[in-house]
Amino acid sequence: MRQSLTFIPTLREVPADAEAKSHQLLVRAGFIRQNTSGIYHYLPLAHKVIQHIQSIVRKEMEKAGAAELLMPVMQQAEMWQESGRWYTYGPELMRMKDRHGREFALGPTHEEVITSLVRSELKSYKKLPLTLYQIQSKFRDEQRPRFGLLRGREFIMKDAYSFHSSLESLDDTYNKMFTAYSNIFSKVGLDFRPVIADSGAMGGKDTHEFMALSEVGEDTIAYSNTSSYAANIEMAEVVYQEEANSATFKELEKVHTPQVKTIQDVAAFLEVAPSACIKSVLFKVDDAYVLVLTRGDHEVNDVKLKNLVGAQLVELASREEVLEIIGTEPGFVGPVKLEAEVEIYADLAVKGMTNAVAGANESDFHYVNVNPARDVSVKEFTDLRLIQEGDVSPDGEGTIQFAKGIEVGQVFKLGMRYSEAMDATYLDENGRAQPMIMGCYGIGISRTLSAIVEQHHDEKGIIWPETVAPYDLHLLALNMKNDAQKELAETLYERLKEEGYDVLFDDRRERAGVKFTDSDLIGLPIRISCGKRSEEGIVEVKFRKSGESQEVSVDELISFIRQV
Ligand code: ATP
Ligand code: MG
Repeated sequence: MRQSLTFIPTLREVPADAEAKSHQLLVRAGFIRQNTSGIYHYLPLAHKVIQHIQSIVRKEMEKAGAAELLMPVMQQAEMWQESGRWYTYGPELMRMKDRHGREFALGPTHEEVITSLVRSELKSYKKLPLTLYQIQSKFRDEQRPRFGLLRGREFIMKDAYSFHSSLESLDDTYNKMFTAYSNIFSKVGLDFRPVIADSGAMGGKDTHEFMALSEVGEDTIAYSNTSSYAANIEMAEVVYQEEANSATFKELEKVHTPQVKTIQDVAAFLEVAPSACIKSVLFKVDDAYVLVLTRGDHEVNDVKLKNLVGAQLVELASREEVLEIIGTEPGFVGPVKLEAEVEIYADLAVKGMTNAVAGANESDFHYVNVNPARDVSVKEFTDLRLIQEGDVSPDGEGTIQFAKGIEVGQVFKLGMRYSEAMDATYLDENGRAQPMIMGCYGIGISRTLSAIVEQHHDEKGIIWPETVAPYDLHLLALNMKNDAQKELAETLYERLKEEGYDVLFDDRRERAGVKFTDSDLIGLPIRISCGKRSEEGIVEVKFRKSGESQEVSVDELISFIRQV
């Protein structure tokens, strides 16, 4: 493609509203433009990258036995009412009415639509398993659209859905998809980790998220420094190591701790370690309250709490709620002689604590010599804390470290969540109706594009991996007014295309400096410049990634490029 004919509006300035590097670079290099908050134009270069990512995805889906289709974006409310999500999805679901007042949603995901399609067409176990996918724009009215394409309100997703008559068959497809995802993210050049994720909200069982490692990632991954173990921080189990403790229980004592509210302050005031204090936090779980105990140096993991009590919503109780329920300030809440009728759950590490410090449920007072085994009536001791760096890895190998990740994909065993709610059944071998077993598998295509840029850039611009680069080669005629340079570049442009390369030809009447700067910004893998030595038939070949360059004679150019 001739650069004079396409549309690559590069910028020298960093756009003021762009925080993430990928957002800045994609705007500056002329790949994207914002239309309105969270909604973007994919300009010609981004469109090419998207097509390359999609083609890698399509090949892997084909290998995994998934067939492509295209479903409606506009979805009638009835299906969402059947699944129940019309009422639970919240304001992220873009809702609208047609001229007759009937309600619709713009698809944020397609479980309802595909379940309604398959239930009316597929009747026999003989037609199962079936895996279908599409690549399409999705709509979610995100509370905080940000980081450009990383969190948009309209974005491109590949979404696949599988239907089965047995759990073994679901496992089989899940594993195939897992492999496909690993291949896809490797091929597009991402440094990623599949991590164990939370399946709570969607009511399924197994699920993994594929995380591109990056500082701008919004998720924290806990991974082992020696094994392949990796989990979302909320999902990482903590291995409880019981320590031998021969301390004798001392007598409970109430001490005056004026204005001493945080664990840090209490520990400093009483000259003990934070780990010798019991942290007592009141949570609201749906309509009830529970008190959760952890060691002072640990944090409550509210996903574990949510799963333990089976609640829809878990949140910290407000100061007002604490005052009302417990009758004291949050800083003085404790589990001893608690008058409020709330159940107490404690993390395993609290179990073995002896002669510890805890709030006395009275302003400016704490207890010392608290022994949970003696003084506290705990409903259940279980794993309730967030894992920390340095903890033993849950698989027993190595220790835990943290990294930030961008969720680029997710695979999910839905089970019968949708088929039961929407009555999607098939007839088994005995002619009996059974709910279909389902899986779903998403990839954020536009988010993946941004994640690639997050991982592949330098101070000059983007450095595209060859597999997804918008073009293979950037051919520059440094001075279009110079006949030798212009002619050589034109000839090479035709030759390289004939050889099967996808070439971006900078034929603009711009200065060489402008062309070099734009070329580095755009970041194609190889740059070929026709400059001063064009008359001798010599061009410069430069590699974007290594920065190395070399003069090559035109006769050897094709074979040289083919080699590298
Ligand atoms: P997140 O937790 O980041 O909001 P999600 O878990 O809600 O994402 P899924 O429902 O699993 O997202 O959607 C499948 C994939 O679509 C995600 O793995 C992600 O790559 C992509 N995706 C989700 N929301 C967005 C968005 N707002 N903008 C761009 N891509 C998105
Ligand atoms: Mg997800």
